[in-house]
Amino acid sequence: MEKGFEEKLQHFQELVHKIKYYNEALSVIFWDLRTGAPKKGVPSRAKVIGMLSTESFKLSTSEEMEDCLHYFEQEENNSKLDHIYKAVVKECRKEYDRSKKIPEAMYKEYVILTSEAESIWEEAKNTDNFLMFSPYLEKIVDFNIKFIDLWGYKDNKYNTLLDYYEPGMTVEKLDRIFEQLRERIVPLVQNIKNSPYQPDDSMFFKNCFDTARQEEFSLMILDKMGYSFDAGRLDVSEHPFTIGMCPGDVRITTHYYQDNFISALFSSIHEGGHALYEQNISTELEDTPVGTASSMGIHESQSRLWENIIGRSRSFWSCYIEDLHKIFPEEFKGVSLEDFYKAINKVAPSLIRTDADEVTYNLHVMIRYEIEKALINKEIKVADLPEIWKEKMKEYLGIEPNNDREGVLQDVHWSGGSFGYFPSYTLGNIYSAQIYNAIRKQFNNLDEMIKNGELTKIKDWLGENIHKHGKLLTPAEILKSVTGEEINSGYLIDYLESKYKEIYKL
Ligand code: ZN
Repeated sequence: MEKGFEEKLQHFQELVHKIKYYNEALSVIFWDLRTGAPKKGVPSRAKVIGMLSTESFKLSTSEEMEDCLHYFEQEENNSKLDHIYKAVVKECRKEYDRSKKIPEAMYKEYVILTSEAESIWEEAKNTDNFLMFSPYLEKIVDFNIKFIDLWGYKDNKYNTLLDYYEPGMTVEKLDRIFEQLRERIVPLVQNIKNSPYQPDDSMFFKNCFDTARQEEFSLMILDKMGYSFDAGRLDVSEHPFTIGMCPGDVRITTHYYQDNFISALFSSIHEGGHALYEQNISTELEDTPVGTASSMGIHESQSRLWENIIGRSRSFWSCYIEDLHKIFPEEFKGVSLEDFYKAINKVAPSLIRTDADEVTYNLHVMIRYEIEKALINKEIKVADLPEIWKEKMKEYLGIEPNNDREGVLQDVHWSGGSFGYFPSYTLGNIYSAQIYNAIRKQFNNLDEMIKNGELTKIKDWLGENIHKHGKLLTPAEILKSVTGEEINSGYLIDYLESKYKEIYKL
């Protein structure tokens, strides 16, 4: 009996490792494709990706897997597993069921549809032609509804999609959260707009920022945050991203613009926050499906914490303003800490989500959440989206787009079938404010610490309390252990109100 268990466990571990290695190889290829692989190599690489992902998919849905899961789910065997492998069994089961419940032919049809839809979306966006994209979007929505029926759902169909990115999140909770945000953020945005005091951020948009020096500055800040260059690297790509192969290899990218100083800087800090998470997941979890982030929302909380709460704070820049002047002596001549602080925190309702500041950002997410929820529950039609979009923009942000390119067509997510993902951005913002409040309680002079550049103390605290656990804890469990509370949007709202009332003299 005992020998049977050991053999079975070894077999299961080998299977789990094999899946991880395929995925790790895929990640390296994706990184390469997005950071400068030669154009002529792309078709060949696509074949390699197809083969590797099929192999990985086959393994996670194999009879072998089902056999292992069946064995280790039996109480007498399960009780002998350590806490890590108990969690691995649960993760593999989730993945197995999710994939197995969709008939293969249906899944293939969906993969083809979404890959076509992505290029159609791009063209539709560039030519401002919603009608070109809408038949694809209709089909993608229908597929998602069918998938939900196959997977099953509780209370609301949209819950199944939410749960995939944010385990445990529900429409009921999110409705309440967004309601609280709407009540206080919409008037705050209005007051900011009406304030006679408006920061001047024109200093960032002169066509003079040498990209090599921008890179030098980003590298310096990442180093101060505690990002390990022995376990990562910073490259350039069209859209910034983080990709983690394993804790020892977590790469980030940014994009430098000569006529925009803040874009690359804050995207480096943002991706650096994501990367610190992945670099500090416990190596005990390596090569398993729990050696990854708890959820998309918790992942985003790490990037937003560094980018916005720390990276856009006065204390942070009181530490680095001198370095800024050293690296860009002419460009920032005469710019004081106060000028700089206010300029990086300029708030203005804008049409494009990815350009939004930290106050208006959540309103952009709210619009997408409301639309997705209504589409999945068949309460609205795809054909009506451009109008619905405009109405909601007007209601929440007080502006509306003149075209669909800057409206409903702006995001790539829906063309790839990523429904249920958008709320992670706002959940990340909410978590980040809650977590920061917990950090504040831990260090009685946090602002002084940041002013002195002691950022690695924060990194270590996050590593010990959040990062190292990987996916062993759910988002709710992490919040509970770190803050003693459930999700609470009050901390984010309080943070935004007090910061921006001071900046805008409200
Ligand atoms: Zn992010």
